[in-house]
Amino acid sequence: MNIFEQRESNVRSYCRNFPALFHRAKGSLIYSESGEAYIDFLAGAGALNYGHNNDYIKQKVMSYLEADAITHGLDFYTSAKEKFLSKFFETLLYPRSLDYRVQFCGPTGTNAVEAALKLARKIKKRPGIFSFMGGYHGMTLGSLSVSGNLEIKAGAFGTSNHVNFMPYPHGFMEKIDTIEFIEAVLNDVNSGIEKPAAIIFETVQAEGGVIVAPIEWMQKLRQLCDRHNILLICDDIQVGCGRTGSFFSFERANIIPDMVILSKSISGYGFPMSLLLFKPELDIWKPGEHNGTFRGNQLAFIGAAAALEYREITNIEQEVKTKETFLYNFLIDKIASISDKVKIRGIGLIWGIDIADFGDSSLTKKIISRCFELGLIVERTGRNNTVIKILPPLTIEMPILEKGCFIIKQAFDECLA
Ligand code: PMP
Repeated sequence: MNIFEQRESNVRSYCRNFPALFHRAKGSLIYSESGEAYIDFLAGAGALNYGHNNDYIKQKVMSYLEADAITHGLDFYTSAKEKFLSKFFETLLYPRSLDYRVQFCGPTGTNAVEAALKLARKIKKRPGIFSFMGGYHGMTLGSLSVSGNLEIKAGAFGTSNHVNFMPYPHGFMEKIDTIEFIEAVLNDVNSGIEKPAAIIFETVQAEGGVIVAPIEWMQKLRQLCDRHNILLICDDIQVGCGRTGSFFSFERANIIPDMVILSKSISGYGFPMSLLLFKPELDIWKPGEHNGTFRGNQLAFIGAAAALEYREITNIEQEVKTKETFLYNFLIDKIASISDKVKIRGIGLIWGIDIADFGDSSLTKKIISRCFELGLIVERTGRNNTVIKILPPLTIEMPILEKGCFIIKQAFDECLA
C-alpha cells in the first residue's frame, strides 16, 4: 500500500481515476512503478504536446542545468530569457506576421488570464467582461468569474458581478445566430448588461466538452469587437501550441485577437509557464504594476526555446493533420457507429466522444476506468462529465495512437453492451 492509499484522508490527491504509482514516462507512454505501460491520451491536460521527456528538449534542459546556469532570474536579463524571446519572436513573425508584446505571467494558466482581464479593464476603463457559456479559464477568482460553469463556482460564494455569459454556438444555441444575439445585447443600452471591456473566448471549448467554434463565427466575433470597441482575448492555453494543427488555434480563422493567453505546452517539457501576448499599443502597464515572484521560470524558457526549434525540425503540424484524419475516420467508423446516441467532435489532436444522450454521467467514469485496466489513460470532460476527451501528445507514434483508439473501442463495446 503506498502513502496515497494509506493517507487517503490526509492527501488531497487528484488521482482517483488512475490507481497506480507512476514512476517514469517516455514519449506517449507512462510507466507505473511495477512496470506496467500506459498509453497517455491525457498529455498533462495538454501540457505535454511534445511527449514525455522529449529527447531534443531534454538535452537542452540538461546542458543548461549542468552549466550551473541561472534557475531564478526574475528581475534580470538572462541568457535563458534571451534564447526564448529570440525564438518566440521569430515564431510570431514567420510566417504569421504577428506583432505582440510578451508578458511573463505565471506560473500557471490562470495567472495569465488574471493579467489579461486586469489589463483589459485598465485599458477600457470599464469592468465588464463577456465570456461564453461552457467556457473554462481557471480556478482563481477572476478566471473563475469568466468560467461558464456554475458547479465549479459554487464553493466560491459569488464571483465578479461584471461578467455576462453569452451563448457559444453549440447544442440548441446552434439554432440561433449567437453573434446577432450579442450584437443585440450591445445595442440595447438599457438591457441591464454593461458594455464589456473585453470578450474572452476559446476557439475550442476543451473543458466545456470539446466544442469547436466555426471559422465564420470567430471572424464575426472579431468584427463585432471592432464595431463596439471591445478587446478580443483568445484563451489558447489548452489548444494552442500546435494542438489544432497550427501554432495558434485562431490562425485557422485568420483573425488576430488583441490579446492571447498561452500556457500548458508552451514550455515544451511540462514545466509551468504562462504568457500574455498583447498588441503593443495596449501596453499601458506601469513598471511593476502586475508582478509576481515566479514569472518566467528559467528552465521553462530553455524548454520553450527548444520546443519551438523542435517544431521546425519535425514539421509537427503536418503530423497533426495526418493523425487528425486517422482519428476522425476511426471515431466515425468504429465509435459513432455503436449508437446514434454517441456524438463525435474535434479538430487536430483534441477529440471528444459525447455520450450525454445516454443520460448517465457515471457511464464515462466506467469507460475511463475500463480503459485504464486495458492500459490507456484518458479523461472525461464537459459540463456534466459526459465526454471522453482524447488528448494525446502531438508526437504520438501512429501504432500507439491506433492501439489507444482500439482500447477505447473495446471499453465502449463492453460498457455500453
Ligand atoms: N484556460 C483553459 C482553456 C484551460 O484549459 C485551462 C486549464 N485546463 C486554464 C485556462 C487554466 O490553466 P491552469 O490550470 O494552468 O491554471
